Amino acid sequence: MNPSNPLIDNQYHEASSPVALVVKYTLQPIILVGVVAIWLTQPDHPLLFPGVVIAVQLILGLLERRLPARPGWLIRGREMALNLFLVFILSSAGAAVGVAYAQLLAAPLDGLRQSLHLDIWPHHWPLLVQMLMVFLSSEFIWYWLHRAEHRWQPVWRFSGHGAHHSFKRLGALNFGLNHPFELFLLVLPAALIELTFGVGVAVAGATVLGVVQASIAHANLDLNSKWIGLLFTTNGYHIRHHSSVLEQSNTNYGCSAIIWDRIFGTFGDSRTADAGIGPTEPTLWEKFLMPIREPRDSRIAPRA
Ligand SMILES: [Zn+2]
Repeated sequence: MNPSNPLIDNQYHEASSPVALVVKYTLQPIILVGVVAIWLTQPDHPLLFPGVVIAVQLILGLLERRLPARPGWLIRGREMALNLFLVFILSSAGAAVGVAYAQLLAAPLDGLRQSLHLDIWPHHWPLLVQMLMVFLSSEFIWYWLHRAEHRWQPVWRFSGHGAHHSFKRLGALNFGLNHPFELFLLVLPAALIELTFGVGVAVAGATVLGVVQASIAHANLDLNSKWIGLLFTTNGYHIRHHSSVLEQSNTNYGCSAIIWDRIFGTFGDSRTADAGIGPTEPTLWEKFLMPIREPRDSRIAPRA
């Protein structure tokens, strides 16, 4: 048990069995290479995104049950069913926000591209390179949005970002447990890049890679951060961002790519003792109300 929170067992189990060690060093690279390879076979297939995300969630969810880094964080039964339902509803709403952005922003950003001569996207470059360009530039925008959420109280409040941080037990499914208000920010970076530069199909690959990375970043598994963590966010880095200690939560804003934290001086690397916004986890209703009322024992919200 963690003395700071007697309700949550935060004890960490490092991989030691041969199977756990193979998972530790190969899971993230295999998933990333596999997902990108599958996307390249049919880059504009409409079922690619839901198919890949569900498959990756199943793999991570099953491994979390067999090889949890923190057994005390496992979620089962009705609580898991509720989380699955919420992620389905919120993901569907996020897709609807993406469609709305495309309809609302396409014409003005088209006009902006023409007036500023921004027709510079290298459509003739290899699709893999284009996809990585969208991935890194979207993550650059998200880095600054996410940093603003944590450093500026009005953005923290109105984005509802505290709701995403309020969970004291994390798992791969937490990638999708966000306040409905925050969907407008989460979907924005890729939409801006796509519509400003008229990118095309590379956006689909970058979106899949981003969501898969965000899933791995929340996984309750003992995964390696060396080398792969120079560019991509690992779960060690991201769970540190979910720490209930303010100084730790104000690091590692890149949920899928960590490189912008390394460049802009917000990278941090140490194991998290306790996750959440404070000593206790708010109820679902309190999480929903976070844009208007911060829970009393919240420790990581930016000060006014
Ligand atoms: Zn955050």
